[in-house]
Amino acid sequence: MNETVEAAINEQIKHELDSGYLYLSMAAYCESQNLGGFAHWMRLQFEEEVAHAMRLYNHIIDRGGRVILEAIDKPKAEFGAPLEIFEQVLAHEQKVTGLIHKLYELAVKENDYPVQVELQWFIEEQVEEEKKAGDIVDQLKLVGDSGTAIHRIDRMLAKRGSEK
Ligand code: MG
Repeated sequence: MNETVEAAINEQIKHELDSGYLYLSMAAYCESQNLGGFAHWMRLQFEEEVAHAMRLYNHIIDRGGRVILEAIDKPKAEFGAPLEIFEQVLAHEQKVTGLIHKLYELAVKENDYPVQVELQWFIEEQVEEEKKAGDIVDQLKLVGDSGTAIHRIDRMLAKRGSEK
C-alpha cells in the first residue's frame, strides 16, 4: 500500500491507543472518587479505543502493509470534578475528529480508495463519540454540583453496555 498513507495510519493507531490509555486513566481516577458508574463508562470507552486501533491495524495487515507501533504517551492522572472529566472527554474526541479528517484528506490526495472507505466508518464514529460526550456534558451542566444528581448520573453511566 501507499507508504505515506501507511505511515499515517500507523500514527493513528498510536492516537487510538493513546485515547484508550487516557480513558483507562480516567477510569482509575473515577474509581478513586467513588464514581463507579463513571469508571464503568470509561472502561468501556477504553475497550472501544483499543477496537479502533485494531481496525486500523487489521486494515494495514489486510493490505499487505507493515504495522509499526509507536510509544504511547503517559496519560494525566487527575481530572477534576465530574463536569471537568467529561469536558476533557469531549475536547479529546474533538481533537481525534480533526486527526481522522486530516487522515481522510491524505487518503484522498494519495488516491487511496480503500482507506477512504475504511475511514468513513471512523468519520461516523466520531460524530457519535462527540454526541455521547456532549450529551453527558450537557446533563452535568444542568445538575451543577448537586450530589444527589451526580449520583443519579453515576447510576445511569453504570448501565452503559447493557441498554441495547
Ligand atoms: Mg477512537
